[in-house]
Amino acid sequence: MEREFFKDWRVNVKNLIEDKKTLKYFLKIFNLEEYSKKINWEAFDKVSRFYPFRITPYYLSVVIKSDSLFKVFFPSLKEISEKNKYYGDDPLSEEVFKVDKRGGIIHKYRDRVLVILTDFCSNNCRYCNRKRLWRSHLELRIDEIKKELNEYLTKNNEIKEVILSGGEPLIYENSILDDIIGFFYNKFQIDVIRIHTKLISSLPQRFFDEEFIKILEKYRDKLWFYSHIIHSDEITPYVEQATKIINSLGIYILNQAPIIREVNDKKEVLKELIRKLLKNKIIPKNFYQLDPIDSTLHFMTDIDKTVELISNVYRETTGLGWANYIIDLPKGKGKVPLPLSQIEKNKSLYRIKNFYGEVVDYNIFLDIYE
Ligand code: SF4
Repeated sequence: MEREFFKDWRVNVKNLIEDKKTLKYFLKIFNLEEYSKKINWEAFDKVSRFYPFRITPYYLSVVIKSDSLFKVFFPSLKEISEKNKYYGDDPLSEEVFKVDKRGGIIHKYRDRVLVILTDFCSNNCRYCNRKRLWRSHLELRIDEIKKELNEYLTKNNEIKEVILSGGEPLIYENSILDDIIGFFYNKFQIDVIRIHTKLISSLPQRFFDEEFIKILEKYRDKLWFYSHIIHSDEITPYVEQATKIINSLGIYILNQAPIIREVNDKKEVLKELIRKLLKNKIIPKNFYQLDPIDSTLHFMTDIDKTVELISNVYRETTGLGWANYIIDLPKGKGKVPLPLSQIEKNKSLYRIKNFYGEVVDYNIFLDIYE
């Protein structure tokens, strides 16, 4: 039985773990009972009422053995005591940028549109910046979405890119995904269909589904994946197998990950994450400053210290692995990469600090244009 959970994504989704009894059952059948002493059962009971616990059997077997991952999937009492007095539970003001009746189409940037297909995830990450959606029960009415998007894209023909997100967009059955991805693929104005998914690491078995792979193959020339891998402990042989399958289709996988206190905010941890991503041909694209919302403040890191951390990591890492360090500004003011090196300027002379802490003069000889 245990082996089924490592082969088949549907068996995992049918057996989601959402309560204490089921959790104990799976710890037992996976021979993982020794790890149950890590769980704060009081927090599990109290916090799950506000922010539900959910995980698949496969991912439980990965998360429970990793001290770092454990912290971001098991409830902590801190979650119910933390209030973000500045931005509440929607720091990026996504609710303000919704343009449809159902509330899943968010248009913030001129050339791209975000489509939240579902608020449902097969695993609930405690640091999620869309925790407000965990209780919203957004329904997927595919014909309605297509009709609204049809009209919206026609009116806004500068939109060239669509971002399918959630929740977890790949939790839907193949026929639904075929329908929705095909809809965008067949729109001449859309150049890029970007799919943000946690499943590459949390349920890699999704990519062992041959029918789904045929769908990806059909649409591959417009498809890009964003994986959300936060720690190298997630990159199991199953994840390596899934990334090989995606890579063989010629679809790029880019990774984005928040920097999370006591989870991945250490030099050796980030170096190992970058190394394993590159080994699996996943491009480390963005590290994020965690968005502050109610209940996730204990995961946040200090910006200055994070700049220093990432600079230290890059000093010892190939340039292939240099992801941007991004902050998504509150109230929908947009994403910006934060500078990792300091720059001073005096006419055409720039003074730039490198990752070794040396200040180097760089003269661009502007006078030759005068
Ligand atoms: S997978 Fe993404 S959307 Fe789902 S709970 Fe985790 S962070 Fe939130």
